[in-house]
This record gives sequence, C-alpha cells and structure tokens, in this order.
Amino acid sequence: MELQLKLTEPEKEAFELALEKGMNFFEALRFSGSVLPENYRVLADHYGYRFLPEVPEGASRVESEGFVFYTDEKAVYTHNPFRIPAEYTIDRAIVIVPPSRGAGAVEGSEEDFWVSLIRDAVLNGWGDIHYEPSESIYRIRIRNDLGKIETYRKVEKEQGERLLRRFLNLAGVPTSMLHVPQDGRISFGDIKSNEPSKKSLREFLEKIKDTPCDMRISVIPTNKGPSAVIRILPRNRTISTDLASLGYSPEAIKKLSGYPKLSKGLILVVGPTGSGKSTLIWAMEKLADPEKRKIVSIEDPIEAEVPGVQQVEVKLPVYDKDGKLIGVDFATAIRAFMRQNPDVIVVGEIRDEETARTAIQASNTGHLVISTLHANDEIEAVKRLLDLAQEKDIAKVVNQIRLIVAQRLVPVVCPECREMGFFPKVEVNDLFLSRVPVEIRKLLEERVKGQEVLSSAVRETCGKCRGGFAGRRPVVGILEMTRELRDFVVRKEGIFETDEFMKIARDNSGYRSYVEDAVEKLRANEITIEDFIEIL
Ligand SMILES: [Zn+2]
Repeated sequence: MELQLKLTEPEKEAFELALEKGMNFFEALRFSGSVLPENYRVLADHYGYRFLPEVPEGASRVESEGFVFYTDEKAVYTHNPFRIPAEYTIDRAIVIVPPSRGAGAVEGSEEDFWVSLIRDAVLNGWGDIHYEPSESIYRIRIRNDLGKIETYRKVEKEQGERLLRRFLNLAGVPTSMLHVPQDGRISFGDIKSNEPSKKSLREFLEKIKDTPCDMRISVIPTNKGPSAVIRILPRNRTISTDLASLGYSPEAIKKLSGYPKLSKGLILVVGPTGSGKSTLIWAMEKLADPEKRKIVSIEDPIEAEVPGVQQVEVKLPVYDKDGKLIGVDFATAIRAFMRQNPDVIVVGEIRDEETARTAIQASNTGHLVISTLHANDEIEAVKRLLDLAQEKDIAKVVNQIRLIVAQRLVPVVCPECREMGFFPKVEVNDLFLSRVPVEIRKLLEERVKGQEVLSSAVRETCGKCRGGFAGRRPVVGILEMTRELRDFVVRKEGIFETDEFMKIARDNSGYRSYVEDAVEKLRANEITIEDFIEIL
C-alpha cells in the first residue's frame, strides 16, 4: 500500500531527506514541517494502528526514557508508536492520539512547557492559544484547525501564572505592568540576534527551530488574574492561492477572478477574525499578477510571505526616548507607498478615519486598493466605510467601491461519515424552530422548514477525517458594486433599505449573500445546523 501523504513539495523533500537520515516516519513527518493532522492519520492507517482524537479518561500515564505515553488494560495510547518499549506492545493494541494532551501539574521546566505547546500548535495547525485564569486554575485552550475551541490542559493557578510570566518575559512584556492591557511579540528572526539581552529568547527559539513561527501575545487583566491570547504565525508555510482548492465554487471563482485585475477602485473583504480574509487576499494578490504589476502590502502582522509582493508590517505607535514616532501606521504606510507608484496597494485593515480617507484617495488616483473591514456582511460594509470616511460628498467614497466579499469559514462534513450515517439528523419543525435564536428563526422557517438537516453530534467517524469533518470551506457573499448600485447609494445619501439594495444587486448581478450561500450548503447536507447557526 502506498502512503497518501498530503505533503507540499518542500515538505516532501524534507520528509524524504529525513527518512534517508534514518528517522522514523513520525520524526520525519515532524522534520518535514507538515502541519496537516491528516498525515498522522495516514500513517496510523498504514501501520494498522487506530486513531483517536484524545487519550480516554482513566488511562494511566507512563514515562519511559523521557518519553510519555498512556495505557489502560486494552491499549497503549501514544502519538509515536515507534518509541513505545516492546513490553507494552506485545498484547496491547496501539492507538494513535495527537501529541500531548495531558492534565495536571506541568513537569519539566517552564520553558519546555512552552516549547511543546508551541510545537504542537504549529504541527497541528492551531490558530491561537487561550490562556485563561479562573478561581483556582489556569485553563489552556486552543483554537483547532477547524476553528473550534478545545481544552489543551489545565494547570494549578500558581504554576499557571508562573508559566505565563515566563512567556511574557520572552515576548518582552513587562510583567510589572499586568494591571493594564499589554501586547508583545516573539519573532523567529531573533534566533539570529546578537543582543545579549535576547539570550534566553534565542535559546527558546533554538528549541522550536524545526517548527518555526512568529507569536503575537495580548494580555489583559481580568478579575481572576492576567488572561492571555497567543496567536501563532507559522513560518515557511506554503500558502494556497488557488481559489478552487480553497473550496470556492466555480460561480464564485468566475465572479472573483476579474476584479483583482482592475487598474483602480476598492475591493473590500469583510468577516470576523478567522474567516479566511487573509487567505482570500493572498489569492487576489496572485490574480492581480505580481509578475506584471507592482503590488505592495501593508499588514498587521505579516502572516506569510507572498512571492513578488512588497510587504511591510505596521507597528503600533512606538515612540523613541525623545518622543519621536518610530512605528508606522496604515495611513502613513499607504502615503509612503504611493510615492513609489505601485499598481495595487493591499491594506491589512481599514479601521480608522485616516486610513479610510487615505485608502479612498489612493483608489481614486489610479491604484487598485484591496483591504478588509470589520463589518458583519456586505451591506454593512458599505455603511461602515461611509461612516469611517466622514466625507460630505459620499459619491467620492461610494464610487470607488468595486467589490465587497463577505465570508465565513465553516467545517464541512466528511462525505464518507455522512454516507455511513454517522451524523444524527434533526427535522426543522416548529419545536426545533422554537429553540433557535430568534434572529435566524425566520430565515430557517422560510428556507429549511420541514427538512432534515445534519447535527454536529457525530458519535462515530470513518477514522480518516477530523472528528467527522473534512476541513473548512468558505461560505461567501460576493457583492459586485455595479454602477446602478453605486448610483442608488449616492441617490439615497447612504441611508437605504437593505431589501431595496438587495433587489437591485440581485437583478443586476445575481448577487447572493453569504447567509444564502450557507443556507444552500445546509440544505445540501454539506454543513451542520450548529455550524450554520454559529456563523450568523
Ligand atoms: Zn469521516
């Protein structure tokens, strides 16, 4: 049987090199830098092991030659069967679990705790780590590759706070100032730093060097103690910019593809954090053709390197000891880049009046501007931009907008698990409707009532997917701002009825909102009712 590993080209090269060096499959996979959990599953299948999402309760912890695994009378639970001592494997089946899911007191050094947590995060594709205090413990949770929050482990309060302070030190956050919100960052590039003050940071980075990443940390004082979120930004990851493989439908691709080629105007992508905005923008940068045009991008933070694009990272306002501003904000960076005469300017986010006005000015003077905005949906984005720009002549703003994309990422059900009937079905009847949030009741009543839809409460899985799900796909609303629509908004001076706007958009360009796209996917049993409700 041939192994069907989903490795990218550079990962594959590293993987094969590691095998040549005599590493076992698991070590080689780690060495390759693959972050796809599927690859662990492929290996489990290949070697006849079973795959479980976590260690069952009641299994006891065994430590052997510095390696930790779990066992009960039925099986041995590990993420690396090659390191299990022979006496454990004779009459007990081995089950594969993802690396490190222990509980209780942290053993080993504080630094080792962070090394294994950060490495797990990169290897498993976790987006962020949530470090949350309660009365007596710290709970550490992660946002997994499906965008869902999972508990990683709990540690006793005092130790939890000590661990957090250790990390804050590495990230340059003054731990004497935890009564106010603080931000910090760890840059993997500091592994090369010569500064004596960065010695312990360098040592830390050295330990995670086969899973390199940058980290952003934000810590706020809560009534139970400092609470932190660490965002993980893997380095050297290959980003997919192909809309079809990212899960966009052929109709969506047809609509999206032309706009990045425009020579001026404004393209906006909206949605909450984690809705795939950055990925869509990378795809648009590719479509904008960095070979033939000059593309510059201002980001906060730089999440991945995009070939052919000049990237600059926005820094929070930073002043030197003489009070001189040494950081750079979005608006300053746009103005600086405009002097270099680019064709396309990508602005990470329009979040203040000055950025809004500068971006609009750039789009009005022969540049295509692509940016994101915090708005719930396509129509709110128009209103939000008008609000931010504070421009009396609203035509100046509205006439720049060419395209607004609103999207969410939703876990898609594994077709195999669905086929096998592992997903419980629920009928959308009056009883069901009486239990859903009132804002979406009407929508479900109109579009889905009387149908059976799938519930996330999957009890069994095919073993090849991620707990019954096969990754996340975008649900998307693509609003083409045609001349008729722009004229309508200008005529109404920015104050208009959503229904009237939608009707023109539908008649004009066959517009369908992201909510309508989600309803279609729900009806087609591609997403579950719980995930549907969550994205609205
Ligand atoms: Zn499945």
